Order: sequence, then C-alpha cells, then structure tokens
Amino acid sequence: MEDGTPWQHSLGVAGEREAEMTFLMIVLWGVGLFALALNRAPLWVWAAGTGVLGLGTAIAGGGGFAGWLVPAIVLGLMLVPGLRKLVVSGPVYGMVKRILPRVSRTEQEALDAGTVGWDADLFSGQPDWNNLLKIRKPTLSAEEQAFIDGPVEEVCAMIDDWDVRHNRVDLPPEVWQFLKDKGFFGMLISKEHGGLGFSAQAQSMVVSKVASRSVAAGITVMVPNSLGPGELLEKYGTEAQKAKYLKRLAKGLEVPCFALTAPYAGSDAASMRDVGVVTHGEYQGKKVLGVELSWDKRYITLAPVATLLGLAFQLHDPDNHLGKGENVGITLALVPADYPGVEIGRRHYPARAAFMNGPTRGNKVFVPMDFLIGGADYAGQGWRMLMECLSAGRAISLPAIGTTSIKHALRVTSAYARIRRQFGIAVGMMEGVAEPMARLVKSAYQFEAARGLTASMVDEGQKPSVISALLKYRTTEAQRDRYNDAMDIHGGRAVQDGPSNYLFAGYATTPVAITVEGANILTRTLITFAQGALRAHPYLYAEIQAAQNPNKIQGLDAFDTAFGGHLNFMLGNMTGSFWHGLTQAAFVSAPVTHRMAKWYRQLHRYAQGFALVGDWTVAFLGGDLKRKQRISGRMADILSDLYLMSAVLKRYEDEGRIEEDAALVDAIMADRIAAIEASFRTVFANFPNGVLRFLMRVLVFPLGAHAHGASDRENYRLARAVLKPGAWRDRLTAGIYVSFDPDDRTGLLEDALEKVTAAEEIESRFVRAIKKGEVTRRLDRDAIEDAVAAGVVTAEEAVILRAADEATDRVIRVDDFAPDALARHGAAPAAKAGGAARKPAPRRAAGKRPAVTKPRRAKTRPAAAE
Ligand SMILES: Cc1cc2nc3c(=O)[nH]c(=O)nc-3n(C[C@H](O)[C@H](O)[C@H](O)COP(=O)(O)OP(=O)(O)OC[C@H]3O[C@@H](n4cnc5c(N)ncnc54)[C@H](O)[C@@H]3O)c2cc1C
Repeated sequence: MEDGTPWQHSLGVAGEREAEMTFLMIVLWGVGLFALALNRAPLWVWAAGTGVLGLGTAIAGGGGFAGWLVPAIVLGLMLVPGLRKLVVSGPVYGMVKRILPRVSRTEQEALDAGTVGWDADLFSGQPDWNNLLKIRKPTLSAEEQAFIDGPVEEVCAMIDDWDVRHNRVDLPPEVWQFLKDKGFFGMLISKEHGGLGFSAQAQSMVVSKVASRSVAAGITVMVPNSLGPGELLEKYGTEAQKAKYLKRLAKGLEVPCFALTAPYAGSDAASMRDVGVVTHGEYQGKKVLGVELSWDKRYITLAPVATLLGLAFQLHDPDNHLGKGENVGITLALVPADYPGVEIGRRHYPARAAFMNGPTRGNKVFVPMDFLIGGADYAGQGWRMLMECLSAGRAISLPAIGTTSIKHALRVTSAYARIRRQFGIAVGMMEGVAEPMARLVKSAYQFEAARGLTASMVDEGQKPSVISALLKYRTTEAQRDRYNDAMDIHGGRAVQDGPSNYLFAGYATTPVAITVEGANILTRTLITFAQGALRAHPYLYAEIQAAQNPNKIQGLDAFDTAFGGHLNFMLGNMTGSFWHGLTQAAFVSAPVTHRMAKWYRQLHRYAQGFALVGDWTVAFLGGDLKRKQRISGRMADILSDLYLMSAVLKRYEDEGRIEEDAALVDAIMADRIAAIEASFRTVFANFPNGVLRFLMRVLVFPLGAHAHGASDRENYRLARAVLKPGAWRDRLTAGIYVSFDPDDRTGLLEDALEKVTAAEEIESRFVRAIKKGEVTRRLDRDAIEDAVAAGVVTAEEAVILRAADEATDRVIRVDDFAPDALARHGAAPAAKAGGAARKPAPRRAAGKRPAVTKPRRAKTRPAAAE
C-alpha cells in the first residue's frame, strides 16, 4: 500500500520538521536558562539573554515575536526599580516583616558578634579558594617558639599529674609560682601592659602543650587567657583600670576568674538573676554613686584562688542616674576577691580534676561606679562585650585542648598498641584494633589542621563566631570519641588508674570540655547553623536588617537589592547542585593541578548543595529553626565537615604537599564526604515538607549518594604506619609534650617503642620458636636464656630482646595500692548540694593545698619482672 498522497507526505515531513524544531527550541531555551542561572547572571543579563533566545526562536520559525519576547519584556520591566518594588519585592518585604520572629536584645547581640570569613564562602556555595589559601600559615615568632621550647617544656617536666590530681588536688606551689613568674597568665595581655602579647597561634600552642601533660595545668593556664578580666580590660577597660590591673594580672600578682554562670542561668546565661542596682553608697569613707550587687554564681574556674572576680549581672537604675533607663542590661564588673561581702573560697570537684573551680556569692555588696568594666559608659553593654570576646576566645582555647588530647591519645596508643602483644602479635596489627587506630590518625591530622587555621584567622584580626562555635563542638566531640578509641585499644591498662596511667585523666575530664564555653548540644543544634545562616549567608542578614529597619523606604530599598541577589543565588545553587551532581563535579575549577584537585572539586560541589539546602531550610523553617534542632544540628555537621575538609586541604598546601601525607588526606576527604552525604540523607528523610524533600534530593544527588568513606585497606595502612617511631608519627603528634625518659609515665612508652622496634626481627624469630614449642614462656623460667640455649637467638640478640622485654614489662604493668592508700583522711565535709555554706570561707593563697584533702602518697608496687 502507498504511504499517502504527495501532499500528505509533505505535510508529514513538515510536521516532523516542526516537531524537531520545537524540540530544538526547548533544548535551546533549557540550556540558555540553565546557563543564566548557573552563572548567577544579573537581572539585565537575564533580560538580554531571554531577549536573544526569544528573537532566535521567532526568527528560526517560531513566529509570533510578541509571544516569544514576553519573558524578556517582563524581566526588562523588572529592571525599573519602582515597578519591581511595587509588584515583587514590596509584597515580599511586607510578608517578611510580618513573619519575622521577635529577636531579643541578647539574641541579637549574640548574632551580631564576631566576623565572618571562610564560613561565608562555604555558605555562598561558590567558595573562592584564594580566600582560603591566602590565610597565613600557622607560624610563631622566634620569641614565642623560644617560650614553647623553654618555659613550657620546663613546666611540663615539673608536673607529676598523679600527684596533682590525687594527692594535692591542686598544682604544687612551685608550679603555680613558675606559671606566674614566667607570664603564662598574661599571654593575651599586650606587652605595653606587661603581658607576653602572644599571638593566638602561640597561646593555642602553649595551652596545647601544657594540657597534653596535665589537664588541670592546661585549664589553669587557659582560663586567664580566655574570656575573662584580662581580655575584657584590654578591650574595654578604662585607662585607670588598665593601669591598675593589667600588669598585675600579667605577672600573676592577681589571679582572675570570670563569673557568668549561675544556678538558674547555665546555657541561658542571659537569664541571670544576679543583679546590680545603681544607687548611692559609702566607699572609702565617702558617699559616692555606685552599684549594689547581689550574686550567686557557680562553676567558676579559678574562683577558689582568685584575687580578682569578674562578674556579670543585670543592671537596674530605678532613678535613671546613668540616663539609660531603668533596665540598663547586662553589665560587667571587677571586684577584688577580698572586698567586704564577697563570698568565695569553697570548691567544686569537676570530673575529679584538680583545677580550681567553685561558687561565689555576695548579697547587697556596694561597689563604686569605677568597678564596672569600661566604667559607666559600658553599663548595659556586657552581653555584647562577652559575645565579642567569646568569638575569638572560643577559637583558641577549647580547640587547643581538644586537639592536644587527640594527639596525646594517638601518641600513647600507637606506642602501646605496638608494644602490647596478644595471640603472639602486637595488638595494633589486628584489623579490629586498626580501625580505631586509623580514626586516631585521621583525627589528629584534621583537627590540628583546623586548630592551626582557625588560630591564624584570629591572628589576621577575625573573630570567627560561627567557625569558633563549630570548631568547639567538633573538636571536643572528637576528643571524646578518640579517648574512647584510645581507652578501648588499651583495655585494662588505661582503666586502672594510678601514677602510671597516662590516659584516664584526659578521658575523665572530657565532659568539662564538652560543657564549657557553650555546651555542645546547644552549640551544635542551636548556634552553629542558625548563626551561620544569618551571618554567613550572602543575603539573609541584609534582608532581615532591612525588614527591621524602622524607616520603611530605606528598608524596602535595601530589601529590594538583597532579595534580587537572593533569588539569583537560589537559582544558581539549584542549577549548580544539579549540574555538579550529574557530572560528579568534573567541571568545577580547582586552585591546584595535583592529586588533591579532585577534593577541591568535591568540596565545591557539596558546598553548593549545602548552600541550596541551607537556604531552603531557613526559608521554610524561618522562626521554627530554633525548635527544629535536629535539622539544624545536621546542617551544622555538614558545615563543619566542609570546614574540616577546607582546613585539611590548606594544611596539605601549607606544609608543602608532603607526599607521605597524601594517602592520609585522601582517607580524611573520603570520610568527610561520606559523613556529609549521610547528614544530607537524614536531613532529606526528616524534612517537614514533601515537595522540597523530593526536590532537594534530586538537585543535590541526581545520581544518588554513594560515598562510603576510606576503605579498610587505606585505614589499615594508616594504622600500621603509625605503629613505628619516626618522622610521620612525630609530625602527627607535634606540639604535645613528649618525654623519652624511661622513668616518666609516657617516656617509658617511647623508650619501649624504640626497643621493641629495634628487636622486631629477633622477636618474631623468638615468638615463632615459642609457637613451635622450642622455647616456653613460664614465670619460673628465663625464656630468653632458653632461646639462646636452643640456638634461636644469639647472645648479642638476647641483649636487645631482653631490653625490649624489660621495657615492655614496664609499660604493661599497672599500679596497685595498699588497702587504705586510696582513702582520704581528714577531708573537710563537703557542703550538701543546695545547702552550701553562705559565709565567706577562709581565704588561702593560690597553690596551697586545699583543706579538703590530706595528701597521702599512694604506694605502688615496683614492676616485677615477668
Ligand atoms: C568545669 C566547669 C568550668 C566552668 N567554668 C566556668 C567559668 O569559669 N565561668 C562561668 O561563668 N561558667 C563556667 N562554667 C559554666 C558553663 O559555661 C556551663 O556549665 C554551661 O554554660 C552549661 O550550663 P549548665 O551546665 O547549667 O547546663 P544547662 O544549661 O542546664 O544545659 C543542660 C543541657 O541542655 C542543653 N541545652 C540547653 N539549652 C539548650 C537549647 N536551647 N537547645 C539545645 N540544647 C540546649 C545543653 O547543651 C546541655 O546539654 C563552667 C562549667 C564547668 C562544668
């Protein structure tokens, strides 16, 4: 049968051609719009682009010019600001104003505190690598390095941690004095004011090294150099206050503490009931204007030995003496600890650690106006002052403690796992043990990278509020996890506490790091993402500020600009996420061409996904973000994983791309990507809106999420590599105190590791002989002598083997005590919870033993030879 008449045929051909043309037009429009969105084209480019597409379509046969040009005309009209505000940004502005949740003054001050930097790049979805790579490498001045190699090393060697935490429950007087004399308490105080004026990097490294020797000593050094009188005076003090206190603080003639937390105001510190009332009173025989203070604070580090008490309280001024209204707001004061009415002196016992911590109280204590930090001018500014200081301080102190703990755990565990043998081999060789060991290795590298990078940011003048929050919770969570790994690998050796236990104190005090400077749950689920979204998002903060502007015209102008950018940003992230997901980031540009280029590309891809999901999360949840903490917690995890990846890539570059580290960097990157994908999956699975959930999944993972982290083989290699002494192990644990003295509690590990490694080949022969039954290990025989007799080892080899054996024996022995050695005699009864004594306790000088304990040295059995 014929196909049809010629005209029917030509009609069919024309129809086919038309269909082809339509298809071509759809593809052209699709590609064109996609390219505009992907490149975040400004509005005029959108108008021009759609104009070109419309003209092309009409000319190529679409006809109906007017129809094809509608998008370009509409977009063109939107270029007219008045019209745009009338039909688009104006109505949205009104809506945003209506739904914007009420933000309290303290919340606003917390949100406003600090600066944004690399976090803004991550939030932008298009990180500019130059902003990361140009941050200065972690460096120390010659003077700072000399301090670390000198006084820091010296004080570490002076500390016997068991004596500190068990016998004295305090640092010995000579250690207190040494810390004061050498200026440890004045590292952040400028040279001009008598302090050491150290960089953030140096402060972090000093605290790291001291804490690796003794947590109590580390915290004691950290606190005066963290949020407290020294920093507050440097930044906000009057000249008279600076002259009066800073030199004395720097030299340790004053011991400071800072009291914010109260029984009913912990995480919600701003809700404190501690109060100051502006009134007239008597001071040094004269009637002066001042503040009558009443406070009840607890958990205050160094309070029991402090001579200078920093206090935060709500200031009221019923007679408006200060001209700031009745409720002035949170205010800070410095009160000498021996000032009449100040109650101080008792102790808490945090995690059984030896550092000083306790409550303080006062009832209607009149102080003159110049006790307020910064004087009356700064009355009511206390919360802002604290938040500003916290942004920088939190970037230094807890990350230092967390990172040093991980490195210390790695150092001792890698040695122990090589020295300790079971089933005829070193336990570290076993696959099951290699898994936690690899985690220790990876954490040591990445958290040191993040610690160093963040301290460098502070040294460049940043006060990274979001980054310091995420780093605080991630480092201290890693500290907790890695201590668990280290404890597991050690088995009973680390459980049995005593003078030779080098892990338990750190393990036991980890909850302190988790809790202080913003408890981790709160920091992860409430602070990091919400503050990040507001501060580091490229448009949100501007939109909110515009919506809060009491001048509606100015507000709408600002909102119009920000909202336009925001729409563009959103479209860019949608297309970018989808494109990079589809192409596995193959077309992303990287700042390097070596093997790490792929990780830069991946980091860009996931940052873009984060920007998209973060944006939608904020837009959809709005004020509910405070309540939807599981979503914001996971978003915080993604942001912090992106930050850790950035820090690791930066460290690799900064250190000159050390080939030996490349496999480690690969493994860390693979792990972080797997973690990011897992967090995204959980966000999607729990996102409260089904349509957005579906869209986010498709846009972020068009080909699915398949990352699985570093392989078993990669992890095993890392774990094996750290079991031997050498440059790699030294580099991974650089910055902690390392002793090589066989009589030291950690030095004996280093000594044994050297000896066991030297005897490795001889030892395997010896073990083989034992397995074959040629030699027997029994308590009543000298197996090494038997091995010589059996011809398994030579006499010279026996010397090496015996040295390793003896060193091993010292390592695996644990302490034991006479039955009554652990009882504390003469301990002063503790005040019952809730019924603490109200009277001022007798004061005692810092460094003197507390009345609460009577020191009693534990008797340890000398390690007996096996
Ligand atoms: C050893 C030690 C030393 C300290 N040193 C000082 C010091 O020198 N000066 C000082 O002023 N303070 C100090 N503190 C106090 C410390 O800052 C507080 O302990 C901390 O802020 C948490 O308060 P809290 O312990 O009352 O816990 P709570 O506030 O009761 O919190 C309990 C739990 O609820 C979570 N949580 C609370 N609110 C939220 C929320 N909105 N969303 C999600 N989770 C939330 C917290 O994360 C925490 O897990 C110290 C504390 C300790 C333990």
